[in-house]
Amino acid sequence: MRIILLGSPGAGKGTVSKLLIAYDGSVHISTGDILRNAVKAGTLLGKKAKDYMDRGALVPDSLIMDMMEERLKEPDCARGFILDGFPRTIPQAEELEKLLAKLKIDIDLVVNMEIGKEVVLDRLTTRRTCSNSSCQAIYNVKTMPTKVAGICDKCGSPVIQRSDETEEAIVNRLDTYNKQTAPLIDYYGTKGMLKTIEAASSETVVNTITKSLKA
Ligand code: AMP
Repeated sequence: MRIILLGSPGAGKGTVSKLLIAYDGSVHISTGDILRNAVKAGTLLGKKAKDYMDRGALVPDSLIMDMMEERLKEPDCARGFILDGFPRTIPQAEELEKLLAKLKIDIDLVVNMEIGKEVVLDRLTTRRTCSNSSCQAIYNVKTMPTKVAGICDKCGSPVIQRSDETEEAIVNRLDTYNKQTAPLIDYYGTKGMLKTIEAASSETVVNTITKSLKA
């Protein structure tokens, strides 16, 4: 499958992506994960991106587009891909369209995962992520705690609260989403590519997506 997942921070795009890759072997491309790995590795991209990320602001489009052009040219993308957190602005969507035309790739579906602000705030402040960059399993202190407090069930690394998941950064990320990313819903809606799904349960979202792709 070749799909774009839209939805505010905390809508569950990462969780849904992980379920979808198990479905057909497509690759999960999360710009947030790529950027966090770059910050951790101390690369030039990471150094340029860190401050924006910590504030809950968007990293400049030009940096994102260079990074994504490189990523979409990787051979594993031939298996299909799930774009999680990208595009995030209208200019990114326009550039992506040009890039996909150049690479002769069509998108099957754009999914808008819809979720209320209260649910998002609660989910994000209670979310914990495995600090191991090759694992990045997601937990929740209320609904899906680790078996041993603070330790990842899958790989044994410490589980952390992301630096952009403080209440202040979350409020900024939601504001950034409403101003810069939500306009993409109309952008893809008018192109007839959009399917909006109520995102309360990841399983429901995955089932609706796989049914739409088969139809
Ligand atoms: P995420 O994990 O998708 O919520 O992304 C975490 C942070 O990475 C965001 O708050 C932004 O600072 C940055 N980021 C991720 N994807 C993008 C993108 N497509 N454009 C600009 N910034 C991004």
